Amino acid sequence: MKLRITRIVLSLLLPLCITACVQQQSEYRMHGVVLSVEDLETADWPRIAHENGINTLGTHITPEQVLRFWESERGRKFQEECRHYGIMVEHELHAMSALLPRERFAEDSTMFRMDEHGRRTADYNCCVSSARALDTIASRALFYAQHLTATNHRYYFWLDDGAPICQCPECAQYSASEQALIIENRMLQAIRTFDPEATLAHLAYFSTLPAPRKVKPLEGIFLEFAPFQRRLDKPLTDSLSEVANIGCNAKNLDYLRENLEVFPVETAVVLDYWLDVSMASGWKKPAVELPWHGDVFRADVATYRSMSIRHITTFAVYMDSTYFATYPQPVYLKEYGDALVR
Ligand SMILES: [Zn+2]
Repeated sequence: MKLRITRIVLSLLLPLCITACVQQQSEYRMHGVVLSVEDLETADWPRIAHENGINTLGTHITPEQVLRFWESERGRKFQEECRHYGIMVEHELHAMSALLPRERFAEDSTMFRMDEHGRRTADYNCCVSSARALDTIASRALFYAQHLTATNHRYYFWLDDGAPICQCPECAQYSASEQALIIENRMLQAIRTFDPEATLAHLAYFSTLPAPRKVKPLEGIFLEFAPFQRRLDKPLTDSLSEVANIGCNAKNLDYLRENLEVFPVETAVVLDYWLDVSMASGWKKPAVELPWHGDVFRADVATYRSMSIRHITTFAVYMDSTYFATYPQPVYLKEYGDALVR
């Protein structure tokens, strides 16, 4: 009898739990920061995030680095603290060489990209026309998703950072964005065998800024827009100041609009650089103090919001214990969280 009552109660509660879970996801609006393992190992980021209105922490840089941290005692404590404060955790990873190990070139060079001279090379990325390459990448992405679960069901396995793509006769018809999307679609199918709610990023950045046209995203692929080629002392709407390689800040917004014709705006995330101490330091320690342009940041948030973007995060790499000891009043963290919570 007791068992029967328990079953009845469970059958009544379960739909409520599922509804609550779906509702929680639909109400989730990311206010995030992305940090390296060293930042997470040395500074108490779950507490810092909680105190500053930041609800999502993204780990970075490679799957191997993050997995070592994740499974360490410090990593387990980090996960516990994030649960305690209700902070979501995701992993924003430069992943291609972990997904298709370079040493497999000797075994089958056709899995790797062809350069402009018609030679196969293991330097970057892969051949997206190789079924074997895609199978390998997808199964490795599944492995990392299983071991580095994202509590917000948002996964990020990026191609090699701004690097060349395959130019073999089959791949040459596809742009960098389209080649990326072919890989991402395949990875998402594999990851969903483990996490049916999984979604996966299409990173628009450098050569993948133009929207893909010949390849369509599967349901569950979301746009991640990273305007790396921008000035941080001018708002994104600025079209007067020159920015190398891209023209001006506002050109980024043209690419963003173009991508939002292909990817749903509801799930799109902006990965910006307002708090990126590593960028300000030329990616070399010792870190400089963040040059903070609060007005530019708030103007950019207003611009993104006007385009109906609800998920916003930024690199904050190099904000480790040494950084906070050297520059002990990071007032911009509160300004950042406050503007996004509104
Ligand atoms: Zn190819």
